[in-house]
Amino acid sequence: MNVFYRSTRSKSEPVKASEAILRGLAEDGGLYVPESVPRLDKTLEELSQMTYQETAYEVMKLFFTDFTEEELKNCINKAYDSKFDTEVIAPLVEADGAYYLELFHGATIAFKDMALSILPHLLITSAKKNNVKNDIVILTATSGDTGKAALAGFADVEGTKIIVFYPKNGVSPIQEKQMVTQKGDNTFVVGITGNFDDAQTGVKKLFGDKELADEMNKAGFQFSSANSINIGRLVPQVVYYVYSYAQLLKEGKIANGEKINVVVPTGNFGNILAAYFAKNMGVPIDRLICASNENKVLYDFFETGIYDRNREFVLTSSPSMDILISSNLERLIYLMAGCDSDKNAAFMNSLSKEGKYEITKEMKENMSDFYGNYASEKETADTIKALYEKTGYVIDTHTAVAATGDNTKELLASTASPIKLTRSLMKAIHENIETMGDFEYEHELSKIANVTVPNAIEEIRTAPVLHDTICDKEEMKAVVKKFLGI
Ligand SMILES: *Cc1c(COP(=O)(O)O)cnc(C)c1O
Repeated sequence: MNVFYRSTRSKSEPVKASEAILRGLAEDGGLYVPESVPRLDKTLEELSQMTYQETAYEVMKLFFTDFTEEELKNCINKAYDSKFDTEVIAPLVEADGAYYLELFHGATIAFKDMALSILPHLLITSAKKNNVKNDIVILTATSGDTGKAALAGFADVEGTKIIVFYPKNGVSPIQEKQMVTQKGDNTFVVGITGNFDDAQTGVKKLFGDKELADEMNKAGFQFSSANSINIGRLVPQVVYYVYSYAQLLKEGKIANGEKINVVVPTGNFGNILAAYFAKNMGVPIDRLICASNENKVLYDFFETGIYDRNREFVLTSSPSMDILISSNLERLIYLMAGCDSDKNAAFMNSLSKEGKYEITKEMKENMSDFYGNYASEKETADTIKALYEKTGYVIDTHTAVAATGDNTKELLASTASPIKLTRSLMKAIHENIETMGDFEYEHELSKIANVTVPNAIEEIRTAPVLHDTICDKEEMKAVVKKFLGI
């Protein structure tokens, strides 16, 4: 059966998976949603005998129905290889009765790698399938982690180039070092003398620049985006929920058909939506618990049915979740509105005009699979300390937001390596932290947490700086043209 993708904002013609991946966002500004979520056509017992890569094929073939078996397997094998520091790609760790699904074994030791390692291959395959002859140029503004994950994913992928703009004084020294040491002839990293908003606005302007698009087209280039609303990022995230359930079954931790709750530290709502898709594919998942930090827009939403971004933005120790507009939530809203694009568009319009909307009672009832939860900064720090003291297992701050201490027999998405743990929280478990330098601190942490310092961190210590371009926001276009040689 072929699966087509519809925009959440209008009744325009549905498109094939490869077209949805190439476009990223629909022309009307909506997100692409599969017309229906396919059911798994293998039993969980069959799946429990499969590797990560084999499971990935079983899941993705049902969504990306216009890809051939060879195309899809080729994408999967190029993505989930030795870039990951474990053959199982997404291992499960049991601690204090809960199962931590570690999604941080890729190139940048955070969960974005799970999707960004395969997106480049899905994109160039989609381009070929749609007779796009141009090279794909990925343009991104980053405030830190996503930029590096995208660079790592696209580096040396033939037929692509990637340009990342970051605020020169707005990312951490380690994040900057990670980016400016990026290898690959097709990568380009530029610091902007401005903040993240300047970088973001500049990138949006370049995307909308028709004149530039024409010039690029003549020279054999076209822009595309790697941001988290691309369906080519969402679907690969469904895989690890299927895989981890099957692994729990294989290890005899759960009985076949036994329902399990899934807890996800949430920002843009992509990861938890992938779990919802896994549930709809037939994985016995009970509740989907959406964990927020002090920016608890989603918690309030699941409580009241009112999404309201008009509130103070809090900087927390889980920065990848410091988000007031969770863009992937739009897909759930659309589905809960009975795939009524007019209704969804009205909500999104209200969100952009008034910063809020209220869903109907009926829609709220349809969302009974979801539960909101949130943790304060103190609770997050206390959780890390308590779990460490009880079990010796160290979790990062994002994961800790989801770990409430009452997670027995739940599956918790663990989204970043504890090596990324912040100093302030490290203090919770270690007294001498103040006197240490950054790399010393990572080694000490690695000893305590009983994990090796990942290559990703080890390498940048000595790696040469390969990117030193700095520009004003007005110069972004010129910089892009220079890099493309046009
Ligand atoms: C991006 C990110 C999240 C949030 O995931 P969403 O899919 O945006 O909800 C949580 N933790 C870490 C470490 C992340 O990088």
